[in-house]
Amino acid sequence: MNTRLHGLLIGALLTTLALPVAANELMGIRWNEGPNNTRIVLDLSETADYTFGKLDDPPRIYIDLKNTKLARKISVREVDSRILQRIRHSPREGNSHRVVLDLNELVEPSVFRLDPYTPYGHRLVIDIPSGIGFDEEDCSTDTEPHKDVVIVLDAGHGGEDPGAVAINKLLEKDVNLAITRHAKNYIEQQDGFKVVLTRNADYEVTLETRRNIALRERAHLFVSIHADSFKNSQPRGGSVFILGSGNAESELSKWSEQNANRSDWIGGVATWVNSECFDDPEEYRFLNNLAADAVIESSVELGKSVLYFMSQVTPLHPRSLAREQDNFRVTDAKYVVLKNTQVPAILVETGFLSNAKDAEMLSQPGHRKLVGRAIAYGILSHFCTNPPYHTHLDDGTYECELEESITRYRVRKGDTLSEIAQTYKVTVSSIQQLNNLGSSVNIFEDQILNIPSHASNN
Ligand SMILES: [Zn+2]
Repeated sequence: MNTRLHGLLIGALLTTLALPVAANELMGIRWNEGPNNTRIVLDLSETADYTFGKLDDPPRIYIDLKNTKLARKISVREVDSRILQRIRHSPREGNSHRVVLDLNELVEPSVFRLDPYTPYGHRLVIDIPSGIGFDEEDCSTDTEPHKDVVIVLDAGHGGEDPGAVAINKLLEKDVNLAITRHAKNYIEQQDGFKVVLTRNADYEVTLETRRNIALRERAHLFVSIHADSFKNSQPRGGSVFILGSGNAESELSKWSEQNANRSDWIGGVATWVNSECFDDPEEYRFLNNLAADAVIESSVELGKSVLYFMSQVTPLHPRSLAREQDNFRVTDAKYVVLKNTQVPAILVETGFLSNAKDAEMLSQPGHRKLVGRAIAYGILSHFCTNPPYHTHLDDGTYECELEESITRYRVRKGDTLSEIAQTYKVTVSSIQQLNNLGSSVNIFEDQILNIPSHASNN
């Protein structure tokens, strides 16, 4: 081989190596709109190597994805957002791919990568702020009392955060939202209640925003709705978590120290107290302690009430039964949503997505409706017997109309299904039906059985 040819070959080789290879693939473009921003998600096969910038006239943001080609033809859901007008994309020179977001006005985006998290792969996220945000409360606006009992229902997770993923591929975020919507419908059938959702579609909501919604609405109750998951498939059943009293005290004293602006709950009255409205710090401290007790007590009662109605439609996890229902633990960091909420708050786990039976049940529209109804009835039943002061429920404008005719029985050692049926003058099959037992007569100690009313059995 002569030297010249050699040189040419090397030259050709270098040229080939220098040519950028499109190693990454753009697989999809999604967007969704939350209360505070519109989020655009680029699904990619590898970690994004990107640059981005803003351009005026018309206002737009571009994102250049280096060494990226389209995996396939991408169809983007039609854009209908407060801030975003259109999403365009096209290949650029040098193997890059450009995505352009046409905006109504030029704002500062936040652009960041997300690592794969089942069921999602590599993502590049562009958040475009569009929210109005939440105003700080001040003393003068704190005096107007509620007329409706305000319940904030919080469907856990959403958007890029799917929550638990079931063995049947069901996503927790979808289960949570479906059940939350049913609960809202049932609660609102009763006059005197107002329901506010922290999200009503598939978008991400930060824990802080969820808490702020409860604060802004001056909620009487915050209910976070989730589905559980565990590393093995055995555990099943629903649970309700509240702030355990020991935990709650420290948590509450923590926010007392840290927050200048806070709410107090005294004997079920929503008295929103700003420490700056008090000349006497002792008076403030006194009210604050009272409020802390009331929050705990209220949450315990609510937790019990919701568990009672849930037990009628779904098995409960032993932790919910064995603990006499007034001493649940806050066991996991994910319950931070409760810890930072300054209103009575409970967290409902509707079942285990890691358990085949629970996952199957939670995939069924009919079951989701029943669970939503049970949560709603637990809440309604509590507030109907303990109406908060200064509400229409308390002044008699509205009366509660709840049909509730189911008794609960805890199985004792040696009990048989037919004896229990005899005692309550109902049929064995009506108990089997109400408790999803099929044709089985097997019951176990401490199992909670729902007993149908005698009247409905005739
Ligand atoms: Zn969850």
